[in-house]
Amino acid sequence: MKKYDAVIVGSGIGGLVCGTVLAKEGYRVCVLEKNKQVGGSLQTFSRDKVIFDSGVHYVGGLDEGQNLNRIFNYLGIMDQMKLQRMDEDGFDRILIGDDPKEYKQAQGYENFVQQLLKDFPDEETALRSYCSRMQDVCRRFPLYNLRTKGLYEEKVEVLGINTKSFIESLTSNQKLQAVLLGNNALYVGVPDETPFYVHALVINSYIESAWKCIDGGSQIAKLLTRRIRDLGGDVIRHSEVKKLHIENDRIVYAETREGERYHADIFVSNAHPAKTLEMIQSEMIRKAYRKRLTSLTNTASSFLVHVVFKKKSFRYVKHNYYYHKEGEVWNMSDYTEDNWPLGYAIFIPPTSRSPEYAEAMTIFTYMRYSEVAPWQHTFNTVSAEEDRGETYTAFKKYKAEILLDEVEKRFPGLRDCIHSYTASTPLTYRDYIGNYDGSLYGVAKDYKDPLKTFISPKTKIGNLYLTGQNINLHGVLGCTISALLTCIAILGKDDIIEKIKNG
Ligand SMILES: Cc1cc2nc3c(=O)[nH]c(=O)nc-3n(C[C@H](O)[C@H](O)[C@H](O)COP(=O)(O)OP(=O)(O)OC[C@H]3O[C@@H](n4cnc5c(N)ncnc54)[C@H](O)[C@@H]3O)c2cc1C
Repeated sequence: MKKYDAVIVGSGIGGLVCGTVLAKEGYRVCVLEKNKQVGGSLQTFSRDKVIFDSGVHYVGGLDEGQNLNRIFNYLGIMDQMKLQRMDEDGFDRILIGDDPKEYKQAQGYENFVQQLLKDFPDEETALRSYCSRMQDVCRRFPLYNLRTKGLYEEKVEVLGINTKSFIESLTSNQKLQAVLLGNNALYVGVPDETPFYVHALVINSYIESAWKCIDGGSQIAKLLTRRIRDLGGDVIRHSEVKKLHIENDRIVYAETREGERYHADIFVSNAHPAKTLEMIQSEMIRKAYRKRLTSLTNTASSFLVHVVFKKKSFRYVKHNYYYHKEGEVWNMSDYTEDNWPLGYAIFIPPTSRSPEYAEAMTIFTYMRYSEVAPWQHTFNTVSAEEDRGETYTAFKKYKAEILLDEVEKRFPGLRDCIHSYTASTPLTYRDYIGNYDGSLYGVAKDYKDPLKTFISPKTKIGNLYLTGQNINLHGVLGCTISALLTCIAILGKDDIIEKIKNG
C-alpha cells in the first residue's frame, strides 16, 4: 500500500506549488497527473522542432522584490528560470480597427502614464486616476502583497466595482477606454460581469514587470517537479484519479483509472471543483454544495493557431499584440458566425536559438464550446486528428484561414512567412486540462455577486482541499497565490508567508 502525508490530484501550477510548499514543510507528497506531461496549462508542445506554449505566454511580478519573484525564490526555482524581460515601453501593444497606431501599455506606473500621454495628451488626470485606483485595489488583497493580516472590510469595499463602469467613469474618450481594456482577454472581460479587482490584480502584475519564458513556460512545471522530488516527494504521470474513496467521513485513498490506490492523510484537488465532486460519491457533499459548484459559469474558451515561420522571415519582437475591431472591445467573446473573430492576440515565443528572428507565433481568439459540440464525444487519447476525424480537421482549417485572413490585414505579408501551422480548439483544452468546456480560466467572477464565485480551499470533507485557478484567481501568479491559500488552510498557520518574505 502506498501511503503519503498528502496526495495532490493534478500537476497544474496550483498543484505543483502546493506540492512544493508542503514538501518543504516536511510532508511526504505525491502528485498524480493524468497526462504524459506535467504542468496543465504550463505544458508546451513542439511542431516542426519549434516549441509552443499551450497556456502561458507571459508572466508578471517577477522582478526582484516583487510578489511572484519572492514566492518562486522561496520555492527554490527563481534562480534557474530562463526569462526575457519584455519591452519596457510597451509589453502589450493595443491595435484598434483601421487605426494604424500601436497603443503601448508600458512597465512601471510612471512609464505607463508617460507612454500613453504621447497618444492621449489631454488625459493625464484619467491615466493617473486609473493607476492610483489600480494600486489602491491591489493593496487591499493581503496575500497578493505577501501580508498575512488584512481587514476583510478593506477588500470587500472594492469587490463590487464593475470594470466597465469604472473605466467609463475615468474618461469619455472611447479610444482611451478601449486601450485600457485592450488586453481584456487576459481575464475574459464581460461588460456587466467582470469585477474591477480581477482587472487590477492581473494587469497590475504586468505593469510591475512583464516577462516571457525562454523556450517555454513548461520550465516552471519542470523545476517545481524537480523540487518536489528532491524534497522526497513523488510526481507520477499517466495517473488519472477517478475516485476519492471515503471512510468515516474522511478520504482515505485516491484511486486511478488503472485501479492504483494512493493513501494519504490529506488530499488536494487541482482539478475543476465540479470535476472534483464527480470523484466523490458521498452524502457528505450536500446537494446544495454540489449544485452551487456545478452551476457556476465558466469563462469562455479559445481557438489558437500556432504558426511555424520560415527561417529568418519574421523579426522577433519583445511584445504582444492585442487587436480588436472598432467598438468591439467588450464583445469579443460574444461574436456571431458572421463577425468572428472580433479580435485576437498575438504571442511570439522567445527561443534561445534565434534571438533576432521569430521561429513561431501563436494567434489567440475566442471560440465557444458549442462550435465544437459535433466532436464532443471524441477524446485526444491517441492523436486528436485521428480520433476526431476529417470533418474536425476541415473545421479547424476553415476557422484558421478566417483568422489568418484577419491577421494578414493588419500584418501584410504574414502568410508569406508561414512554413506550417496547427490549431487548437476548446476540445484540445477540455481534454488536456480535464474540464468540461475548454474554459480559459475556469469559474468566471461577477461583481454583482462576488461571494458566489469565491470558492474556499476548504471543503465539506475535513481532509479534502481545493487549489488552482478556480480558487481565488487564474494565471501563473493567481494560481500560485491560490496555492498559498490552500497550504495555509492545510497547515493551519500562515508562517510560510513570513518565510517567503525572509527569502
Ligand atoms: C490559452 C491560454 C492562455 C493563457 N495565457 C496565460 C498567460 O499568458 N499568463 C498567465 O499567467 N496565465 C495564462 N493562462 C492561464 C493559466 O495558464 C492558468 O490559469 C493556470 O495555468 C491554471 O493552473 P491550475 O493550477 O488551475 O491548473 P491547470 O493548468 O488547470 O491544470 C490542472 C491539472 O490537473 C490535471 N488533472 C485534472 N483532472 C485530473 C485527474 N482526475 N487526475 C489527475 N490529474 C488531473 C490536468 O491534467 C492538469 O494537468 C492562459 C490559459 C490559457 C488556456
